[in-house]
Amino acid sequence: MRVRFRGIDVREGMLLRGPAGWGEFSPFWDYGPAECAPWLAAAREAAYAEWPAPRRTAVPVNCTVPAVGPEQAAAVVVASAGARTAKVKVAEPGQTEAEDIARVEAVRDTIGRTGRVRVDANGGWDVATAARMIRLLDRFTLEYVEQPCRTVEELAEVRRAVDVPIAADESIRRAEDPLRVARLEAADIAVLKVAPLGGVRACLRIAEEIGLPVVVSSALETSVGLSAGLALAAALPELPYACGLATLPLLAGDVTSHPHRVVNGMLAVRRAEPDLVGDVAPGADTARRWHERIAAVEASA
Ligand SMILES: [Mg+2]
Repeated sequence: MRVRFRGIDVREGMLLRGPAGWGEFSPFWDYGPAECAPWLAAAREAAYAEWPAPRRTAVPVNCTVPAVGPEQAAAVVVASAGARTAKVKVAEPGQTEAEDIARVEAVRDTIGRTGRVRVDANGGWDVATAARMIRLLDRFTLEYVEQPCRTVEELAEVRRAVDVPIAADESIRRAEDPLRVARLEAADIAVLKVAPLGGVRACLRIAEEIGLPVVVSSALETSVGLSAGLALAAALPELPYACGLATLPLLAGDVTSHPHRVVNGMLAVRRAEPDLVGDVAPGADTARRWHERIAAVEASA
């Protein structure tokens, strides 16, 4: 990682090669074997099955502004290769509400009136705080608020209390039942990530059943894993929002000399070929840990 993100400094994963191409298996180490099963299914789908036919050749993407100060936040937007949507992290533990407000204001000022600004609280607010903060931050016109609170019930409550659309992320990806969000009318938008939800086809099924517009996001993959996210974004019948697939700059390296690079706020839909795997080859210990991990996932099934 270029900077510590999600509590990690080193991003590890495994690439699988099959007749259809390359797949990426890179669950974070806090995922146990059973929770890794969909990640493995997604990697195997990429390696052994065909992805559905694309309906578009490029996908609009957002830039992501971490919980930094206003000057740095503005700099992220300026450096975002033309992204017309910014996602701003808010509700960071240890920070003040004034810091959130200053960050979102700086992003709105920088992206201009025609840009879109969404915020992601990663479940960090309670219902009352969420309702209050969303009203405060909507001074800067929010596209939507992602995961304002932790539980589906809380999301539903916040959604009834505010006018800004609510997006569900963790409530879908780490839930036993991703469709509960729709049944409880807890969200207006579904954030789908290919790996934790079991692959491109599994996500297309969820998108159809959940009946909400979808934002495709990454799980901090290399260009190989991002190719699957792009395949999903390209195959969705409708794509009204920019996707969270421009995460490659968070990694210090990649496995390909032809990475998924943002041009004019868009990513081209194509499959990355890993031609630099030798450069990131792990030691024998790391390789053994990952083979053991796959064995544990299979044993848990
Ligand atoms: Mg999120």
